[in-house]
Amino acid sequence: MFYEDLSCYAYADAGEVFTDRVDDMRFVSFRPAYERLNVGWLEAGHRWTAGPAPRAFTDRLLAILEAQQVNAMLGLHECDLCPTPLPDSHPWYMPRQGHLRASDGTGEVRVPGHPGTAFAAPYLIGHYVADHGYLPPEPFVDAVLGFDPYGSWPVRFPGVRFPWIPDDAVLRHVDDGECLGI
Ligand SMILES: [Zn+2]
Repeated sequence: MFYEDLSCYAYADAGEVFTDRVDDMRFVSFRPAYERLNVGWLEAGHRWTAGPAPRAFTDRLLAILEAQQVNAMLGLHECDLCPTPLPDSHPWYMPRQGHLRASDGTGEVRVPGHPGTAFAAPYLIGHYVADHGYLPPEPFVDAVLGFDPYGSWPVRFPGVRFPWIPDDAVLRHVDDGECLGI
């Protein structure tokens, strides 16, 4: 699936379903109170920008991927930029060389941008950057470098440590735990 970098996000338009892996708050759902901008939705046959990404950026991006999972879909999206398909001896769930992100694309991440905006990137962006030399647009690089997914945030809700909860969200209880909804 290809979207132009910095175009407006419309992939999962029903809202956000957010899992915070740091504090283990799962499947928090809300209508986003921010504009979402696509970054890193690459696909073979479409142009994308290659270049040396700062090491600190790559490290931070991979940390964000470890900390979040947004709008996880059933099934996996395999990278179609890799030159050869995975052999049977190396199935999708086994990591590849390098930063090992090749077939891990079953969700997205969010990175806060300017006030009122968040970047929306597919999970495969880590593989694209680390293994294919994809260089995202500078506003995204700056946003990633300025965002610590393990940092402490002003807490509106116990156990929720991301800053994008809209003001009209309320905490409700569901069978398998607490959840935010509106
Ligand atoms: Zn690949």
